[in-house]
Amino acid sequence: MTIPPGATIGIVGGGQLGRMLAMAAAQLGYRCHVYAPEEDGGAAAVAARFTKGAFDDAAALARFAGEVDVVTYEFENVPVAPLAAIAARVPLYPPVEALGIAQDRLSEKIFILRHGGRPAPFARVDDRGGLDAALAQIGAPAILKTRRFGYDGKGQARIGAPDEAEAAWEAVQGAPSLLEAFVRFDAEFSILLCRGADGETVTWDAPVNRHEGGILVTSHAPAGAALAPAIAEGEALARRVADALGHVGMLTMEFFAADGGALFNEMAPRVHNSGHWTIEGALTSQFENHVRAICGLPLGATGLVVPRVAMRNLVGGEADSWRDILADPAAHLHLYGKSEARPGRKMGHVTRLLD
Ligand code: AMP
Repeated sequence: MTIPPGATIGIVGGGQLGRMLAMAAAQLGYRCHVYAPEEDGGAAAVAARFTKGAFDDAAALARFAGEVDVVTYEFENVPVAPLAAIAARVPLYPPVEALGIAQDRLSEKIFILRHGGRPAPFARVDDRGGLDAALAQIGAPAILKTRRFGYDGKGQARIGAPDEAEAAWEAVQGAPSLLEAFVRFDAEFSILLCRGADGETVTWDAPVNRHEGGILVTSHAPAGAALAPAIAEGEALARRVADALGHVGMLTMEFFAADGGALFNEMAPRVHNSGHWTIEGALTSQFENHVRAICGLPLGATGLVVPRVAMRNLVGGEADSWRDILADPAAHLHLYGKSEARPGRKMGHVTRLLD
C-alpha cells in the first residue's frame, strides 16, 4: 500500500529523532503529528500537529491513531500493548514485534542467537544470589545491565572484581538484569539498514562509533578496511533479522568488532544516533528512507557523497559553541531546540564532510 505525499504520518515520541524524521517527511510533502508526553523534546516544534499524552494512555493513543494515515515511533520504551492495539486500525511500522524484542535485552539476545548472531557471553540475573551465580559463570570484568528501560549508558554498572557486585546490584536497584562479559573490542560499529514493504533492503556505509560513559560521542564513515570482515558479518545478520521480522523501516544494530568478527551488542527498530551523518553525508538519509519505507515508496540510494564523514554529538553545554562550529566551512550544525542543557542531554550534533 502506498501512502502518498500529502498524507499525515503519526510519530510516537517527541525527541530529536522525531524532529529529524518530521523534517525529512516535510521535504517529501508529508505532514507529521507528534505524540509525546513532553512538548519541548524537539519534535513538536517542527511538526504540523502535536498531542501531549502519556505513552501508556491507550485511549489517547487510539484517538491519535485515528487522525493519521500511518504510525511510526522514534522511542523504544513505549509499551507494546497500546501500539499493538492501534496497529490493528492503522498501518504501524516498524512491526511491534521488533519493538517487543528490542525492549528486553534478554529476549533480544536470545532472538539474535536464534538467527546465528554472536552476543558477548551473558547470564540472566533475577536476584542478588543470581548475580553471584552469574559472576561465577561469566567472570569479571563484566557489565550488569537492566533488561528494560536502559539507554545512553543508564541502567548499567561495571563490575571490575567480584567484590563490586553489591554496589552494582544497588546501582541497578535490584531490577531484572543481565550480566554481560566485558568485551575488549577493537572498535564499535553499527549497521544501518532500511527495509521497504516489498522486502527491498538498503544499508549505508557502517559507521565506526565511539562512546563515553555509555553515550555516543562520535560516528565516522567509512570504516577502515580492517573492519570489513566484521562489518560483512554484522550486515548479514541484520539482513536475516530484518527479513525474519518482515521489518519495514530502519533497523539499527550495534556491534563490537572483536577477535576478527562482529559481537552483537544491541538493536533498535528505528532511526539511530549513529546514522545522523547520513543527512548530509549520504545520497539519501536514514530519516528520508525510513519515511519512504513506512509510506511504501521506493527507497533512495545510500552511497557517501564525499570520501569521509564525521559526526559529533553536542552533549550538555557543548552546544554553546555553535558560533565556532558555524565558522567551519566543513561543518553542518544541528541544534534540537531543547530549552534546558542538562548534563548528558543530547542538544545537537555536527556533521563534517571531509576529503
Ligand atoms: P549499550 O547501552 O549496551 O549499548 O552500552 C553503551 C556502551 O557501553 C557501548 O556502546 C559500549 O561502549 C559500552 N559497553 C556496553 N556493553 C559492553 C560490554 N559488554 N563490553 C564492553 N563495553 C560495553
